[in-house]
Amino acid sequence: MLRRHGVHVTAQRLAVLRAVSDRPHSTADDIDKAVRADLGAISRQAVYDALATLTDNGLLRRIQPARSPARYEDRVGDNHHHLICRTCNRMVDVDCAVGTTPCLTAADDSGYEVDEAEVVYWGRCPECVASTSTSDDDRSQRSSTPRNPDQHSPRATTKEEMST
Ligand SMILES: [Zn+2]
Ligand SMILES: [Zn+2]
Repeated sequence: MLRRHGVHVTAQRLAVLRAVSDRPHSTADDIDKAVRADLGAISRQAVYDALATLTDNGLLRRIQPARSPARYEDRVGDNHHHLICRTCNRMVDVDCAVGTTPCLTAADDSGYEVDEAEVVYWGRCPECVASTSTSDDDRSQRSSTPRNPDQHSPRATTKEEMST
């Protein structure tokens, strides 16, 4: 597959490709950890370089959701869209409902030659919806021990988001 895309085959690139394929929508950090567990001696920079090369050559797709690190996946070329949970950041694929070149028809394209439509559906995943619809004392107990402290980045508490 690498050769077909004109990319020189290296152990690093194969490992990165395998890691992304095993866990689609991972961040570069996640992939770095997975590749290191797999290959051992590999620098962070080498993993990032491999991700960039594979993305530039069309073997991987990079998704850049607002206020979130970039994610990578190996499902390329179909312009599928994504559902993202605001609470736990879980991202899943969603096919577009219309045609083979989904959502390419803008209401008014202003004369642009459109070749891609980027759609992200934001909300809460079923697990997160279920976990907040439990009883009140259950919830206060949970809030003292957050399940996922990673998500509390300073950026996550802007004024804009607090008011929503
Ligand atoms: Zn969730
Ligand atoms: Zn996807």
